[in-house]
Amino acid sequence: MGQFNVVVLGAGGVGKSALTVRFIRDEFIENYDPTIEEEYRRAITVDGETSSLEVLDTSGAEQFTSMHEVYIKAGKGFILVFSLTQETSLKEVDYLRKQIFRIKGNDSRVPIVIAGTKLDLVNEREVPTNTIQTLASRWQLPFYETSAKRNWHIDDIFNDLVRQMRKQYRQQ
Ligand code: GDP
Ligand code: MG
Repeated sequence: MGQFNVVVLGAGGVGKSALTVRFIRDEFIENYDPTIEEEYRRAITVDGETSSLEVLDTSGAEQFTSMHEVYIKAGKGFILVFSLTQETSLKEVDYLRKQIFRIKGNDSRVPIVIAGTKLDLVNEREVPTNTIQTLASRWQLPFYETSAKRNWHIDDIFNDLVRQMRKQYRQQ
């Protein structure tokens, strides 16, 4: 059974922990301690095949730390999280994406999925779909609009990433 390290990155408060805990335990936690950084493990079956994921929910993304560099070196796949209710958090995704390519090497094909969270907060929404679509197609990365609270499209993120990681790392 394949095993992959997944790193969840993004600005503070965008919903990284909510997304991770929804995937791992199928719960929504309203006030998760923002300083907690934890690694979780879960098996996932995609296309009839089971893989084991180690998912690292990072914290303290106010500035890029040397620990981020360590995580990125070790990570096989990345979920870049921003909040649909906060335009500036999308800029952080671009920054993180660049850091990943800097650390992994620009010509490497790194499995990455972009997740826009808080889709349920329709009245607070700041980022329209076509803005994300334009950026994601420029970056050539898949993106999903999700809600950890409502459990919308959380599995889609992980299924997509597992498919990318299998393709990238199977024949090693
Ligand atoms: P992190 O700092 O990126 O780990 O963010 P958290 O997961 O701790 O979430 C920050 C805040 O956003 C918390 O108050 C969460 O309850 C809230 N939140 C996270 N995801 C969602 C979501 O999908 N919908 C709604 N309505 N709130 C969310
Ligand atoms: Mg958190």
